[in-house]
Amino acid sequence: MKTEAEGPEQQTLDGLGVAPGIAIGPAHVVEPGIVRAPERRIREDEVAAECQRLDKAIRASRRQLARLQAKTRQMPESAGEELDLLLEANRRMLTDSRLTRGAEARVRDRRVNAEAAVQAEIRRIGQDFAGIEDEYLAARIRDVRDVGARLIRNLTHGGYRGFGEVPKGAIIVAEELTPADTAAMDTRRVAGFATAQGGAEGHTAIMARSLALPAVLGVAGLPGLVEAGDIVIVDGLSGRVVINPAPAALRRYRERQKEFRAKERRLARLRDVRAETRDGVTISLQANLELPEEVAAAHRAGAEGIGLLRSEFIFMNRESPPDEEEQFQAMAAIVESMKGSPVTIRTLDVGGEKLAYSLGPQLAEAVNPALGLRAIRLSLKLQPLLETQLAAILRAGGLGPVRILLPMVTSPSEVRQVREILKRVARRLKRRGVAIAEPLPPVGVMIETPAAALAADALAYTSDFFSIGTNDLTMYTLAIDRADESVAHLYNPLHPAVLRLILATTEAALKARIPINLCGEMAGDPRCTVLLLGMGLRDLSMSSTSLPRVKQRIRKLTLDAARQRARTIMEQSDAGRIAAILDDFNALA
Ligand code: PEP
Ligand code: MG
Repeated sequence: MKTEAEGPEQQTLDGLGVAPGIAIGPAHVVEPGIVRAPERRIREDEVAAECQRLDKAIRASRRQLARLQAKTRQMPESAGEELDLLLEANRRMLTDSRLTRGAEARVRDRRVNAEAAVQAEIRRIGQDFAGIEDEYLAARIRDVRDVGARLIRNLTHGGYRGFGEVPKGAIIVAEELTPADTAAMDTRRVAGFATAQGGAEGHTAIMARSLALPAVLGVAGLPGLVEAGDIVIVDGLSGRVVINPAPAALRRYRERQKEFRAKERRLARLRDVRAETRDGVTISLQANLELPEEVAAAHRAGAEGIGLLRSEFIFMNRESPPDEEEQFQAMAAIVESMKGSPVTIRTLDVGGEKLAYSLGPQLAEAVNPALGLRAIRLSLKLQPLLETQLAAILRAGGLGPVRILLPMVTSPSEVRQVREILKRVARRLKRRGVAIAEPLPPVGVMIETPAAALAADALAYTSDFFSIGTNDLTMYTLAIDRADESVAHLYNPLHPAVLRLILATTEAALKARIPINLCGEMAGDPRCTVLLLGMGLRDLSMSSTSLPRVKQRIRKLTLDAARQRARTIMEQSDAGRIAAILDDFNALA
């Protein structure tokens, strides 16, 4: 046991390393349900204005809740009714309640900014009820937190700005971070993060890889074991989190951090060399984009285009969906910056673990969100939303080559419906005299359900191209939630069932002579490169941070050897054996 003078004891915790790299810095602990906000003292003469700001945010929050309530009336009666009651209770909490009165009193008496006052009041209410084991009360405390979080978002103008205020080089430690939280991280301030919840292929993990933020998820005991300001090491490769490291451990990790960075710099030199096998076959490597800022990283990595633009980012961290113009501007900036290289824009893929706050209750109430109204199903149900998005894509297509990609398709009729809508939207835009992509952009489908993979031959008739989404394909084939850390050890794209579906899809596309690529996380895993090439894939899309490693791998392979290895692997029935065969090969070649 260490003495007080020696500082706190070092603790080492293990989780899932989801984004490589080593981050070392002071912990910024996120309290569950609360949106972090800057705290500052205000002067006496600022009190009235601050109270007004609070009042304005309260009124805005009430309006938003009323709008959400109105939307619940379009929902099926049972789901809508319950949600309506909940929203009504939240709205009442914004009318002369303990929360609003308490927050205002804090602004006046303690002279703190409104965000800090709301935050402190939520904490106080939570403390008052702590220790009382009552389900009803626990639910009410959650409601208070939700309402408080909304208030703070309105005070900070909608964004999850809390992360912008963290100390430079901070490690975010939280129970859970949503993809939207991660999207709000300013990488100039945040060095990495660690959470208790989350799986390796969930979107929070994907976002961490895209932002090149070292991250470890699924660490039991977080955030409780960490105090704000504790020094924390996040090793995103091994999945280790060290709290208050002893000097020797700190030295060791700093050394590793240096080595990792030197290796990254060496890899960056591959930018301008071709992704070509030793026997002269060129592979097209494109970038997946979660956020518009990543375009610069895609250029730095030498990506030949954007193979997957996840359009969800335009809908995140906001109260209402963006209009056509805003979507167009966001897409146009990306298309223009790619200077003639293709950009594949996927229509909205929310639902499941990817919640878009701006779409409100339409998503929240699914019985089983992964199997519910998500992705293309949602777009076909909320057609005005799809029409707006297609209009923005068509307009962006007037500025450079775009392709339209539909998520979670299970049958050709979904593609046919979208094509009809697309034609209608194009006609309408032309009547308005707006410049659009002509001819209309290719329409392709994500192959990410077993249904799509098994019926790939039928889908090929209605699709201009395929993109295999192994993240969801693995989840739906193995019935394992990609974002659930408790089953993460079972999630395996190398399972023979998944590989057979990838092969069947690839063969169907080659037979139908339509382009096919793979854009799931497997594309960015150099361990799998030999197998994917051997199965016939020549086009891979991945996070820009993975691209140099995959390129390096390709340049060491021959297609002949890859084909042979793939044949051997496809004869196996055991995922462990497949991994061993791959590892043997990769160790030698
Ligand atoms: C996939 O499912 O593999 C995919 C690329 O889409 P997302 O990860 O966005 O669900
Ligand atoms: Mg998917």
